[in-house]
Amino acid sequence: MKKSIRIIKDIGRVIFVENPRNKNINLSFHPIKGIRISYPPGTDYKALEDIIYRHQDQLKALTAQYTDQNKDQNKKKDNNNDKVKEQKAAIIIKKREASRQITQRMNFLSDKYNLPYNKLSFRNQKTRWGSCSYQNNISINIQLILLPSKFQDYILLHELMHTKIKNHSKDFWNELEKIMPGAQEYNRQLKLFHPKKIEFI
Ligand SMILES: [Zn+2]
Repeated sequence: MKKSIRIIKDIGRVIFVENPRNKNINLSFHPIKGIRISYPPGTDYKALEDIIYRHQDQLKALTAQYTDQNKDQNKKKDNNNDKVKEQKAAIIIKKREASRQITQRMNFLSDKYNLPYNKLSFRNQKTRWGSCSYQNNISINIQLILLPSKFQDYILLHELMHTKIKNHSKDFWNELEKIMPGAQEYNRQLKLFHPKKIEFI
């Protein structure tokens, strides 16, 4: 495994990891370590850069969100043990804070568009952003908090719309587009930003 750090124009610091065990190029964001791209040996540098630039909006939003927090943590670190403890504590608080923020936003959108739901719960899954059961219980991936706010709203509204329409029919998308123009485009862009590509500890 070969590691190097490069500064990418308009993006900043990116950790490049050449790993013979990689089958694909894998871009990830870590709240503490930052942006990381791993790839099989022999991958064209241009291909790596293309992937980074294709995700630049999301990467910039994530970096901006975590820069202040990281600065605070760096100031405090005296020895490694303390640093790890502090980071773990910060992340636990972050999760609690994240679920509080998401719940608040969910209730706001639910009231605004008159889409009531039954219960809201949080998961940290690798495969999906959210789901809505037949009983209108909505489950949201806590990693949502790492996304730019427009994508957060899109996911919340998508699940809220399922309280009314359980499938992904034309009707579903039409209704969703009415309250969130561009919903289908957000859906398309979100596929590039699958939760499994974000490391969240
Ligand atoms: Zn859906």
